[in-house]
Amino acid sequence: MTCFAGVVIEGSFIPYELLYYETPSNLNVEVGDRVLVPFGPKDRLKVAYVIRLNKQLEGIDKSRVKRVKAILEKRLFSQSIATLFEFTGKTFLIPLHSFINRIYGTFVPHRIEEKINVLDKDGLTNLLGNVRSSKKEILLGTLLEKSSTTLSLLKRKSKLEDAKIKGFLRELEGLGYIEIQEIAPTSMDVMVKIKDEALFDEFLHSRRISKSVKEILLRVKKNGIIHFDDVIYGIKKGSFLVLELIERGILEVFYEKEKEKTKTFVEKMVINGGSLEERTKFLIGHLKTHLTENGKVLIVVNEHALIEKIRTFYEEAFPYEVSISYGGDKGSIRKDIRKNKKIYISTPFSLFVDIVNLEYIIIEDASSKYHMPNEYLNFDTRIVAYKRSELEHVSLLFSTYSLDDTLLYFSLKKQFLLKELKNLRNQNKRIIDMRKEYKSKHLSPVSRYLESKIRKALELGMNVALVLNRKPYSTFIICRECGYVHRCKVCGTPLHYDKENGVLFCPVCGYTEPPISVCPRCGSVSISYLGYGIQKLSRDLKNIFKDTRIEILERGSTGHIVDASLYSKTIFLGTEFLFSHLILKGVGFIAFVSADTFLNGSNVNTSIEAMKFFRQAAFEVYPEDVFLQTYSADNPIFSFFKNDSESGFLKEELNYRRILGYPPYQNLVELYFKETIDVELIKKQLPESRVLGPVEKFESGKRFYAISIRTATHPQTVYEVIRASNYLEHLAGARVYPAPELIYDS
Ligand SMILES: [Zn+2]
Ligand SMILES: [Zn+2]
Repeated sequence: MTCFAGVVIEGSFIPYELLYYETPSNLNVEVGDRVLVPFGPKDRLKVAYVIRLNKQLEGIDKSRVKRVKAILEKRLFSQSIATLFEFTGKTFLIPLHSFINRIYGTFVPHRIEEKINVLDKDGLTNLLGNVRSSKKEILLGTLLEKSSTTLSLLKRKSKLEDAKIKGFLRELEGLGYIEIQEIAPTSMDVMVKIKDEALFDEFLHSRRISKSVKEILLRVKKNGIIHFDDVIYGIKKGSFLVLELIERGILEVFYEKEKEKTKTFVEKMVINGGSLEERTKFLIGHLKTHLTENGKVLIVVNEHALIEKIRTFYEEAFPYEVSISYGGDKGSIRKDIRKNKKIYISTPFSLFVDIVNLEYIIIEDASSKYHMPNEYLNFDTRIVAYKRSELEHVSLLFSTYSLDDTLLYFSLKKQFLLKELKNLRNQNKRIIDMRKEYKSKHLSPVSRYLESKIRKALELGMNVALVLNRKPYSTFIICRECGYVHRCKVCGTPLHYDKENGVLFCPVCGYTEPPISVCPRCGSVSISYLGYGIQKLSRDLKNIFKDTRIEILERGSTGHIVDASLYSKTIFLGTEFLFSHLILKGVGFIAFVSADTFLNGSNVNTSIEAMKFFRQAAFEVYPEDVFLQTYSADNPIFSFFKNDSESGFLKEELNYRRILGYPPYQNLVELYFKETIDVELIKKQLPESRVLGPVEKFESGKRFYAISIRTATHPQTVYEVIRASNYLEHLAGARVYPAPELIYDS
């Protein structure tokens, strides 16, 4: 029966759409296969991935549908992963081919062999009597001799030129005498292990074996289970040698079998609060009692530093059962996940890899901005993880310092149990009003109160941690007298100062205006423009606290995790980088030198992100103190934080988002174009949506134009509108922050 394969093609620029090909009956095409398909007017062969198999094709002219040529690799991924790919592509407008390629690696094409099958012997025999060329005679003779043969054999025998032989064969195919089939050599995409330990050791220590064989054996021994490609890497005739070792019964191919699921109850939980260590220990205890014998766990972590922080806890609790994958190389996550361990710790891309007997997915640091679309990731880990947990009936646990709109959605609408591991009610959290400092002519970035606290801590031999999150030259405008923040008249985003052009500009909608010198609220001339960098603060601190060790933690300063408990009398000074790279144990207190820098970003998630960092700092130093210096002490976020009222904070934040049409109420779709576009054209087709921009932006030397759309329509519909407006070729990328309700239930 004819069947149609919906595939994504490598190197095509269509984000999520599938192209359909007929699957020939002699090929057993399945979902998850890597295949070869003809593409374009010249029918160039392209690598593609099968995402769907359909019995029917609606609305497509079947006579124009081409056929799948060959299968390169069988079942890279299962049906549920294919569905997950499709869901993610449609929701986040991701070009699937590059995405799949990133996770499953590049196929290294060996020569593709053409196989010729004889269909009509009589036809060929008749023809044999009529050809004039002796070379063609030989060719026909060879075809008649065997019912199927290869192109290379025909070439060798007939000595015909390449072009001539192909032309002749195509002629024969046209007459219906033969069929030509492209055969791709199946790659050895398998894992290898030791078959017989005794035999293996005996062989390894025998003198007869070559250096190459010894290297192969040592690689297998070291890894236990290792991918075929990795065993033979860099070894001459490696695949031949490994196959020989398999034949001799020394090595074997490892097949992981799906065991019967014994766990039937699916858990859904948000674990909120506590330090990373406390949450990890809770999770380990939970897994120890709930995981079945064959059950596997996938822990999704957003930063490499975080992997380093949690791995030791898991490795102690599950010795030899933990596999870590940083996913640096293409395809490496998949190899790491097939090592037959119990616990896999990896990056968000691991969500697209099959794991036999997967019982738990854990998202660590679940409210981190690195789980949401950003420059390194184009989907939201939490939203994809939930989809997978539904598709495969897997338990899903979110481990987090704080709740955000998405986690709140899961707990309210998807029956996730909200477990508060710890609260901050009894912790000393002090808000320091910098306006008072300014009024009493104390102009240092460190308030007198904070200065005395630092001095006291250092005298007692303790460490302190100071956080400052500010890029030195582009920042918001604040009145140091009254705390007024100068905002965009169009969209309310804090305006930035463009030093080069001497204008204030809005990073969201592009609005500009001349700089101000007087505060519009209080008339003061104490308007502060330029940022206060970490280097300058460090110099100031050195002047105040002479002979004190100051450790700076910012991007690029260290790749390692710094353990504060190994230090004494030290000031740790850092950007938010400090949170991922410093273990805050043994720190006397933590202070935000300018909490305002966390509150006045241009991103919709700014406040929720700020609250996340405040809570993270508090939980990590608990029960020690937290200090926040600010020019806007009356911002309600501070009292919510001080009183440990996360729900009050979220209620207010969500109210604001509902009014302005942000997630979780509407989808926020940011589109980046290579050339400027007519936004009015888009607006007309998206009524009841808010469209802002285009704003000219530069990123890594490239100019592009960003538009931002808040809409209740599905991101896919937005994409269709772009296509209908003929702007598809200008589209360079998208970042989608979906409203979960509008995505899951559509
Ligand atoms: Zn003012
Ligand atoms: Zn604006």
